[in-house]
Amino acid sequence: MQYYDSATVLYLDGKFIKAPEAKTSLYSQSLHYGYAVFEGIRAYNTHNGTRIFKAKEHYERLKRSAELMHIPFPYDINDLIKQTYKLLEKNKLKDAYIRPLVYCAPNMTLSPATEVSIMICAWEWGAYLGTQLQKVCISSYQRPNPKSTHVEAKASGHYINSILATTEAKGKGFDEAILLDMNNNIAEAPGANIFIEKNGKLYTPPLGNILAGITRATVIRLCKTLDIECIEKHLSADDLKNADSAFFCGTAAEVIGIASVDEAVFPAIWTETLGATIQRTYKALVLEKQNYEVII
Ligand code: PMP
Repeated sequence: MQYYDSATVLYLDGKFIKAPEAKTSLYSQSLHYGYAVFEGIRAYNTHNGTRIFKAKEHYERLKRSAELMHIPFPYDINDLIKQTYKLLEKNKLKDAYIRPLVYCAPNMTLSPATEVSIMICAWEWGAYLGTQLQKVCISSYQRPNPKSTHVEAKASGHYINSILATTEAKGKGFDEAILLDMNNNIAEAPGANIFIEKNGKLYTPPLGNILAGITRATVIRLCKTLDIECIEKHLSADDLKNADSAFFCGTAAEVIGIASVDEAVFPAIWTETLGATIQRTYKALVLEKQNYEVII
């Protein structure tokens, strides 16, 4: 995958520069310790023009992630949104994945960062998990314990756990992993949240041991609009395996159905599930085909 070419422009500390000319220090605390925070945002080519979906929510989460990690955040959110629209324009991108990253200055100590940089880049990216129903396995890796880190922060270092889980799943021939939390409840996928359907209702793990997904929050609000009962509660691996259907959701993955977990195949036909309804409605929402925003 080529993320940029000689014409690509990125945003770095208030300036737009050519991506191949951007430089960073090899002595950064971020590179050595995974001490950085980031976001994953999508822009859609809607009939109202290019629209960044939930831009404010994403940049607010970036700020909150920085605060939790004692990383300075000397940026104005409205300005960052404005610069992100400019970035898309400069790169002639209409449908794009946007990656802001706040990273730290050279420092080999384990003390909090005092100096930071922000870079924002964007590229065209299809649905992260593709468009086929996912064959998944329960990972042997757990999500980080909330007593070991702030799991609600989107911190770079947390993604080592995600890489290990995805690598293990793919190594065993699955498409993706599902990680349990420290109490052996279902937590989330390496880069997406999970919902299950059972007897006409949706269930999803509560906040606390997972990343508070912006797509997850959107799905919960869509359920209210669509009059679908959605319950936030702890779910066991058996609850998942005995579900009628299940799906992942996330900015990069969007809404994607799950075919099976380990050897258990979900009985419902995907197109007839609540997940499929949510998938269609989510697409209509991000493309502004229906103005659900007025309702939710
Ligand atoms: N969980 C994890 C671990 C993630 O990396 C992501 C992607 N940011 C999500 C859930 C989904 O979050 P969002 O809907 O905000 O993209």
